[in-house]
Amino acid sequence: MTANIIDGKAAAERLRQQVGLEVSRLVTEYQLQPGLAVVLVGDDPASQVYVRNKGRQTVAAGMLSLEHKLDVAVPENELLALVDRLNNDPAVHGILVQLPLPGHIDEQRVLQAIDPAKDVDGFHPANVGRLATGDPAAMAPCTPMGCTLMLREQFDGALCGQNALVIGRSNIVGKPMAQLLLRESCTVTIAHSRTRDLPALCRQADIVVAATGRPEMVRGDWIKPGAVVIDVGINRIRFEGEEKARLVGDVAFDEVVEVAGATTPVPGGVGPMTIACLLRNTVVAACLQRGVSCGL
Ligand code: NDP
Repeated sequence: MTANIIDGKAAAERLRQQVGLEVSRLVTEYQLQPGLAVVLVGDDPASQVYVRNKGRQTVAAGMLSLEHKLDVAVPENELLALVDRLNNDPAVHGILVQLPLPGHIDEQRVLQAIDPAKDVDGFHPANVGRLATGDPAAMAPCTPMGCTLMLREQFDGALCGQNALVIGRSNIVGKPMAQLLLRESCTVTIAHSRTRDLPALCRQADIVVAATGRPEMVRGDWIKPGAVVIDVGINRIRFEGEEKARLVGDVAFDEVVEVAGATTPVPGGVGPMTIACLLRNTVVAACLQRGVSCGL
């Protein structure tokens, strides 16, 4: 058996189209154009590319895109003052501060300064709590949200009752992923570096989400035949005898593809869905702020 390879680029394109249609409706019916402000501190090349892509896709969906680029040495109080202005700007419905921030800035203080209603990254403790308590107004972090939407597609919406194993317990991926799967009524197990006999746990799972940052850690013989495997990992590895580094996931793709029912590749799996989910969260946030229903 060979797994269905989940095309994250195509899934992201479908989601961006839905977002675009919803934006048109909001503009026509309510003169509401969702706006996303992205704040970038410093000139890290990878972050610059990421921010540029976000801006391009935001505009392509018919939304307002605002970019604020600050010098790497910006004092923390200036960054906080900018966040405060964005919190109070009615044209801005979503605020994203690109991480990581330079060492002299307290990342948590900045993230907690964002109005939870505009926290489209879902990292504010108020949103973490809302997600954990099942509040529909919770903003969920974009990467696990993207994984959830891909899983819904794979199971035709029937995630209820599936045994899901999330490997990794970080605040940005593992924990919110587990909460989102619980919200879908999966039976959720969370594994981490201290978990005993991970391969045995894995063999019981209908869904495996790997988010460890350990290249190709999840092997083919850990997977229950037909299971759906989502690989969140992004690891840049230079293999022996190869000149250029390659991106690999946390899953041994060549092995898992022989056993699983469906799996995501790296690159081209989870990655593209992350920005599409950011646009989605911004539209949802705009609707909640205006008090109108959202079609997404
Ligand atoms: P973290 O390093 O914050 O967390 C890794 C988690 O994996 C920890 O909970 C850790 O356990 C667990 N872990 C590490 N080794 C093992 C092991 N041998 N067995 C079981 N569990 C283990 O990473 P992130 O959650 O931030 O990211 C995970 C991966 O996802 C990375 O490759 C990252 O690059 C990628 N990523 C991809 C994104 C995308 O858009 N596609 C977005 C964000 C991240 P413990 O808590 O016990 O230490």
